[in-house]
This record gives sequence, structure tokens and C-alpha cells, in this order.
Amino acid sequence: MAGIIMNESNTLKGISASAGIVIGKAFIYSPEDIVISKYSIDISDVKNEITRFQIALKKTRQEIIVLKDKLGKEIGKVHANIFTAHLLILDDPMLTADTINEVKKSKFNIEHVFSQSLAKLTQMIESVDDPYFKERGNDIKDVGRRVLKNLVGKNRETLVDLKEEVIVFAKDLSPSDTATMHKEKVIGFATDIGGKTSHTAIMARALQIPAVVGLGNVTEKVTEGDIVIVDGNRGIILINPDEETIKKYSIELEKFIAFERELANLKDLKAQTKDDYLIKINANIEIPEEIPLVHKHGAEGIGLYRTEFLYLNKPNLPSEEEQFNAYRFVVEEMAPKPVILRTLDVGGDKFLSHLNLAKEMNPFLGLRAIRLCLAHPDIFRVQLRAILRASAYGKLKIMFPMISSVEELKKAKEFLEEAKKELKTDGFAFDENIEVGVMIEVPSAVLIADILAKEVSFFSIGTNDLIQYTLAIDRINENIAHLYNPLHPAILRSIKLIIDAAHKANIVVGMCGEMAGDSIYTSILLGLGLDSLSMSPIAIPEVKKIIRSTTLREAKDYVGKIFAMSTADEVKKFVNSSITKRYTVVKEF
Ligand code: PEP
Ligand code: MG
Repeated sequence: MAGIIMNESNTLKGISASAGIVIGKAFIYSPEDIVISKYSIDISDVKNEITRFQIALKKTRQEIIVLKDKLGKEIGKVHANIFTAHLLILDDPMLTADTINEVKKSKFNIEHVFSQSLAKLTQMIESVDDPYFKERGNDIKDVGRRVLKNLVGKNRETLVDLKEEVIVFAKDLSPSDTATMHKEKVIGFATDIGGKTSHTAIMARALQIPAVVGLGNVTEKVTEGDIVIVDGNRGIILINPDEETIKKYSIELEKFIAFERELANLKDLKAQTKDDYLIKINANIEIPEEIPLVHKHGAEGIGLYRTEFLYLNKPNLPSEEEQFNAYRFVVEEMAPKPVILRTLDVGGDKFLSHLNLAKEMNPFLGLRAIRLCLAHPDIFRVQLRAILRASAYGKLKIMFPMISSVEELKKAKEFLEEAKKELKTDGFAFDENIEVGVMIEVPSAVLIADILAKEVSFFSIGTNDLIQYTLAIDRINENIAHLYNPLHPAILRSIKLIIDAAHKANIVVGMCGEMAGDSIYTSILLGLGLDSLSMSPIAIPEVKKIIRSTTLREAKDYVGKIFAMSTADEVKKFVNSSITKRYTVVKEF
């Protein structure tokens, strides 16, 4: 935001995991290291050691069950499932039976033997070159720490007993750490590691706690008691900022709160320009638990339901029934408003560990999204059946990601027709005329948009990937992030091409990439003629406000000027200056 002066030395840039700004005191959370002594035991003590171990296991089991219930009630069963995995770890024979056998054999104390079993199992799991297994290594450590604490008789340090409001700093936060966070006391958090799709980041968003992850070494730079600012909007942390910065952030925070309050009044108003042009505002969701937020911010439907999260961080693929229940829940909660459900989009930076796929040199250009589904009809079939069954409970539309050719789209539609036939035979109800759409996010799809438009009833522009593939800029590589520019003339021209092709074929076209939810671009997108915009629920009111404060005529003139420019820099300067003139909440990019 314009006007915030940042002293480079105490500012750390990470990944924004959850939006919002908080100023507060740092609390360093490092689950204290447990000292494990090693000593020989008498043969007569073996039984006693085993009993101690069994008591510790039982106590740990109870703790995990309590946590699982608590989390299930607070933010939903999907997140609580992680503790089902923790309970399974407690039953792993490498941790239990092997430990007992080793105590009998070696005659060493149980803490020592258990910590050795723990190290062996963790090492084995982490040596598998796969992000899923690396994550499971953390789960094993988490469960093991609990058992050890219960064995050595100390209560594990948790985040539940905090006496004052704090901002938590940690190397990483396990799902159980996040679950124990006392919402009123933990007002923000920051971690050294983690990405946008880690469990921790997902939970931060579900709990609506501002958070920044992937900061590198923030825990080394911050000291307990330091005054810190978590700027979840920009993904930065400021340690001991000077008074002037605090003052500026406090003003921004006040403005932000007042602005949010004002925006809340827009909830039930339409996204309608002053000259009565209507545009639909939808929400993007990753998990069904986000639905209350969607309603709170006044979305007119779900424009993108990313279904990947049902598949990630799980030991098995989700069954048809599990998927059906999740999709049906979303559709029923939103009815009669429409839900666009996107079929599985894994590959790229999200991996399915169950498939044992060969590691790819360029996973974003590899077996991703629709390509993976077409290559694994068994997986695709189950999802299509679950989607179709859920379509009987509200207004559900289906959308295929990363379509790059007509052949791919036709194949995907054939699978859909087959699934319909099967369901008819099996006697399930579904919407026979379910609308089918595609994401336009690959340059080849832009160039054949007129042909694709004849095959579907809607387009949705995925700018996150469209920018990556059009400008050849890896969307997750921080070294080239400055080149990732939605205002590049090539991107603006592509968007125009897509919209014109859609409208010529009389189909609707929306946008669901991050560009749709950034109010800097709203006037451009309006002027370009999009029918709908889909964004993170929290972004809806601001975008709506901008639409209501302009006319379609103005927006079209604005786009006309922009299209006469030949460089991204020129466009950027022009957009920046006009934004500063027009809006109270000013953004800098
Ligand atoms: C996109 O690419 O713009 C998009 C919305 O999909 P995702 O970010 O899930 O790839
Ligand atoms: Mg995409």
C-alpha cells in the first residue's frame, strides 16, 4: 500500500498464507526439546518399562482423540482427518511392537529405545523422494514427541495456555499445533517453512488468522517480546518496526477495518455499474468449510471449486462416496446459487503420492490436470460419477482444467457421457443437462478459443496459469516473480481474444485466476466485457465497490487507452496513476 515505509533490514518477505494485518508481540514457539537419557535396565524391570510405554501410548491416543474432536467441531471434519492418520501412526508396529521387542533384547530404558525406533521410521519415510512422504515424516515426529513427553512425564508445551495476545513464530507448525491455537490469543503467525497449500496455511485461512509462511529464517531473526507486524496481505513480516511505520500500519489497519465494515454493507447489493451493467461475482473455494465465508461476503455462486484438496495429504484416493458427500454438501449449501466444480488438477506443484508417477523434469508442462485424468480413467471415472450424483442436489456445473486441444475436451466429454450411462444403469439421479465448461489457461486454448467455444457452455479464464504459460514464467519461482505481470500486453490481448470468441459463440466467459480478485484490475476486466469474476471470498466486497462506482462506458474507454500502449511498464504506470486518483484504498504493485 502506498505510503508504508519499510526498513529493509527488519522486513522479511514470505508467502502470504492468510490475509489481514496484525501488530503485536512475538511469541517463539519451539516445542521444547526433550532430553532422553539412556541407561541399562535390569531384566526384572523390563515388564515395568513395557507397562510405562503402554500407559504413555494410551495417554497419547486420548490426547489425539480430544484434539481431533475439538478441531472437527471448530473448523470441520476434513481438517480433523489428519489426526486419524496420527492415530494410525500410533499403531505402527515399527513404533510399538519393535520397541517392545528391542527393550526385551537390549535391556535399555524405554525412552531411549522408543526414540531410536522413531528416528528409524522417520528416516525411512523421509528418504522417499516424494513431498507426501516428507510431510508424513513430520506427522511421525509430531506423534513421537507426544509419546516421549508422556513417557518422561512432562506436559507438552502447547499454545492453549497463552495468557495474552501474541503472534506465534515457529520453524513450522504441525496441524496439531495449529489446532490447539487459542483463537483469541493467537492473533497471527509466521513460519520459516511451508507453502500456500500446506495444512497450516489452509487452516490459517479457515481460522481467519493473518499468517505468512515460507520466511526462511524468521525464527532466528525475531526475539520473544519483539513488536512485530504480520502483513498477510503482502506476505511480509516487520520486526521491531520504527514508530513511523507502526503509526502508518495502525492507520492502515484502522482504514482497513473501517473499509471492511463499509464493504460489509455491500453484501446483498448487486455488482452493477452506474449505467446498469451487471457482472456476476463468484467465489473460489478449496474446501467445503469455506462456504460460510462465501455467504458472508455475498458471492452469487462458486466460480471455482478446486477439488484437489480432497486428494492431497491422504493415504488413499478419495472414494466415490467421500467425494459425493463433499460435492453434495457444497451444492446444497449454495443452492439455488450455481457451483462450478473443477475436475482434479494435480501435477505441477501438487502431487498425488498414491500414483507412484515418475518424477518429471518440468511438472508444470507434464502430466497435469486433464492430462493426468485422461491417462488415469479409473481416477477420472470415480470423480465424474461423484460430481454427476451431486448434481441432483442443486445447480452444479462441471469444468475441465488445462484443456489445450479440442481432442482433449472431446475425450473428457466422452468420459462424462460414459459416467452418465453407468449412473443411469445403476439407478442414480443426476442432472442430464449438466453444463460443461473449460478453463482457458494454456496459450493453445486461447488461439483455438473460437473452436472450443462451440463445444462448451462457458469459459473460465485461469490467469494464474495463463500468465505462466504465455510469458514463460514459472508461477512459483520467486526469482522471476517481478516478471509475472498480468498487465503485459500479451495477457490483455489473450483475455480479449477469449472474451470475443466466447461472445461470438453466445457462451458466457468468466475469470477465476487471482487477477479477477485484485481490485487494481477490476475496471480493465469490466471494460473487456467479462460476464463474471470469481475470487477468494474476502476480495469480493472491494471488487464490488469498484464496479458500483464506475460505468461500463468509462471502463471501455479506459481499456481503449490501455490497448493503445505497447509495453507492460507503460500500462502499469497508467493503471497506478488512475487507481491513485480514483480509489480511497490505494494499492501498489
Ligand atoms: C488459474 O490457473 O488461474 C487457476 C484459477 O487455477 P489454479 O490456480 O488452481 O491453477
Ligand atoms: Mg490453473
